[in-house]
Amino acid sequence: MDSRAAGTGRQQTLRHAISCSGTGLHSGATVHMTLAPASTDSGIVFRRVDLGENAPPIPATIDNVIDDRLCTTIGFRGGPSVVTIEHLMAALRGTGIDNVEIAIDGPEVPVMDGSAAPFVFLLECAGLVAQLASRRAIEVLRPVGVAKDGAEASLTPGLNFSAGCEIDFASRAIGRQSLTVSLVNGTFKSDIARARTFGFAHEVDRLRAAGLARGGSLDNAVVVAGDRVLNDDGLRWTDEFVRHKILDSIGDLYLAGAPIIGRFHGRRSGHALNHLLVRTLLADRGAWRWTTESSVEIAAGATPAAAAAAPATL
Ligand SMILES: [Zn+2]
Repeated sequence: MDSRAAGTGRQQTLRHAISCSGTGLHSGATVHMTLAPASTDSGIVFRRVDLGENAPPIPATIDNVIDDRLCTTIGFRGGPSVVTIEHLMAALRGTGIDNVEIAIDGPEVPVMDGSAAPFVFLLECAGLVAQLASRRAIEVLRPVGVAKDGAEASLTPGLNFSAGCEIDFASRAIGRQSLTVSLVNGTFKSDIARARTFGFAHEVDRLRAAGLARGGSLDNAVVVAGDRVLNDDGLRWTDEFVRHKILDSIGDLYLAGAPIIGRFHGRRSGHALNHLLVRTLLADRGAWRWTTESSVEIAAGATPAAAAAAPATL
């Protein structure tokens, strides 16, 4: 199931509220999280309920990203924030949820098993419901790219959304991997959602010394030491690493505030560069337009005349 496969062309939210508990990857804090239905055009909004009723809600948009060095933190400087939102954001995009309120009683989204699959399960248990308003999407009209320190990320026009990533690590457990996935016909759930975050054993001590990765373990990350994977059960796919990079990219791009229609490609890219790409796209007003999914479907039809006539909504 994903936004296109859902096929309604309408915004979606949850049918019922649903909760889970878990540990934050970096903080190690145990948190309780409730996802609840939200009204049309409200988007993805976090609330830090442990900070009292006056704490301002935090919309999950690119303007509210305050740190993206290791994971994605949204919030307000000197105010409430939420850490490690990316895998939940990927699950919301992958299941086609436009509007949801996420109440959380701690600083960090639970890491669960290090993938998006537990969130997809949670969302499916809650159920999805189509809302009255049309879903708006961001249609890429011309190529946009960013590059930094040997890494690249780009968006080019396409008839639906696809994400392709390339990675290249010295460890033979990872090596060179590349994969492209179109977000259609349930591919997010079948091919991407279960891919776990990964890290290197030699980095764990350094991260812990910096007060990070306190909740990290072999239960919620793939850990690589030299050319070996330390997890007893091994990998879920031989290319689980690049699949997780695609998962991260899907979550990062959803911070645009709406689904993107276009082709993403990242080479050695990470959260910070993906966010820069979103900012660069949105700042280039000629590079995209608001559209409804139904008009994109018309544009994807057989005749050029139909494509030319496809209405854009502003
Ligand atoms: Zn990740």
